[in-house]
Amino acid sequence: MTLTETTTDTARDDDTFLDSLCGRLRPGAVIVDPTALRTYECDGLTGFRVTPSAVVLADTTEEVRQAVLTCREFGVPYVARGAGTGLSGGALPTSDGIVISLQRMRAILEIDPRNLRAVVEPGVTNIDITKAAAPFGLHFAPDPSSQQVCTVGGNVAENSGGAHCLKYGFTVHHVLELEVVLADGSVVRLGGVNREQPGYDLLAAFVGSEGTLGIVTQVVVRLVRNPATVHTLCADFPSITAASEAVTRIIAAGIVPAAIEMMDALAIEASEAAVGAGYSLDTAAALIVENDGPAAESKVEFEAVEQICRDTGTTKIRIAKDSAERAMIWRGRKAAFAAVGRISPDYIVQDGVVPRTRLSEILSRIGEKAAESGLRVANVFHAGDGNLHPLVLYSEAEGQLEQAEELSREIAELCVEMSGSLSGEHGIGTDKACSMPRMFTESDLAAMWRLRRAFDPEELCNPGKLLPTPRLCGEKPGVYVPHALEVSGDIERF
Ligand SMILES: Cc1cc2nc3c(=O)[nH]c(=O)nc-3n(C[C@H](O)[C@H](O)[C@H](O)COP(=O)(O)OP(=O)(O)OC[C@H]3O[C@@H](n4cnc5c(N)ncnc54)[C@H](O)[C@@H]3O)c2cc1C
Repeated sequence: MTLTETTTDTARDDDTFLDSLCGRLRPGAVIVDPTALRTYECDGLTGFRVTPSAVVLADTTEEVRQAVLTCREFGVPYVARGAGTGLSGGALPTSDGIVISLQRMRAILEIDPRNLRAVVEPGVTNIDITKAAAPFGLHFAPDPSSQQVCTVGGNVAENSGGAHCLKYGFTVHHVLELEVVLADGSVVRLGGVNREQPGYDLLAAFVGSEGTLGIVTQVVVRLVRNPATVHTLCADFPSITAASEAVTRIIAAGIVPAAIEMMDALAIEASEAAVGAGYSLDTAAALIVENDGPAAESKVEFEAVEQICRDTGTTKIRIAKDSAERAMIWRGRKAAFAAVGRISPDYIVQDGVVPRTRLSEILSRIGEKAAESGLRVANVFHAGDGNLHPLVLYSEAEGQLEQAEELSREIAELCVEMSGSLSGEHGIGTDKACSMPRMFTESDLAAMWRLRRAFDPEELCNPGKLLPTPRLCGEKPGVYVPHALEVSGDIERF
């Protein structure tokens, strides 16, 4: 691939730009109708909304390339968009920019069971890859709870994870090769189907770059063989501390379950109200542990997990007796985010990581902070990875939004203080760009900026995401100040 450092004249004239865009694309590919544009004004971080000036519904790599070239010629910012389920504002457009939607590029081009891989377009949903691979006894391992709707392009951009990433790894571990349209309009392939690739590992740099380095137009993914056996249990614990101790001991015993998930009492209450999966309503915490693999191995490991749960004080263990019961246990867990809407009018989903051994400590600190702020926090998370998803419950009607945002930000930064990370899988996006200096030094961030500018010297590709800018964060990095576009009235929070 060639990365060119070029500059362009950016004489912007909206009508000429739109005429040029429409002229280069098939009829109907460009949306400018103000009502239709509102569909694209936010992603899953619905508190930030900006209506873009146009949306391109791309059908082919060439259409993506033409859209990017037109933006470059006129100096217009653009953002790629999959299903818009991102939770960090990654697909938030700018008011003077366009959205390039990849959702129509949803062909599964090849399933290759002999080589355990699939070639897909970026708008294919995560679950559709698994469905297409199922007849061969294979699946796509990254399994975000949003897998029914989120796209593989979005998974690549966010390096998405899911419950089973504890054993199987994140998206980065399951992508072999990408076709990408870069900011200069060149179409390059990163990585390759042979695992040993000489040269810089640009594929790894690209995965998780949150749409700031280019637009993915084709993905070659790894497929994983379905496990021979699966054992799932749900264990109740009298305290978060006891449940966290079980997690620490399971991992310390050298067992790597396919998943270890935890829900606290509030998350269970919400989930039960929504789907009634049969969780105990009188428990402080529930652990879902799943072991899979060859029959003999997973049986031994599962028995060891069960024993560890007993040793750490479980009050009740429910073992899934068949696939229907397993599916029900998972349904309760996967529905938990949305279910929180049943017990609170509004909520913020936070995403942070701490070392697994500090789970109990951070959860009690979160409890203290919640009590101080007078808000409730429900916890449902990937305990095996130390990846928390505190759900900050609030009522906007009662004027609690600012308080909730403050608490949510404090929780993310607390994760960093405790040697963890600002994000486990939802990305930094718009939401946490201003907190990046809490985690990285100026030199670290400068190196990231240099990488970004090598790919996109004019910063037109998803500007304002991932990396902090004075415009977004004020002169004092790390301290949140209202978004400049919010002040100017271009975006609104609600
Ligand atoms: C209920 C719910 C549950 C969730 N559970 C999980 C979970 O368990 N694990 C997890 O990791 N995430 C989870 N998420 C977050 C979200 O679903 C993932 O981040 C997902 O990968 C986003 O995919 P998308 O297609 O919706 O991307 P979008 O939201 O459209 O975009 C996300 C980012 O990717 C970029 N992007 C999209 N397509 C491309 C492309 N083709 N090329 C370059 N950049 C692109 C966008 O610019 C943006 O920065 C959840 C979200 C919801 C709403």
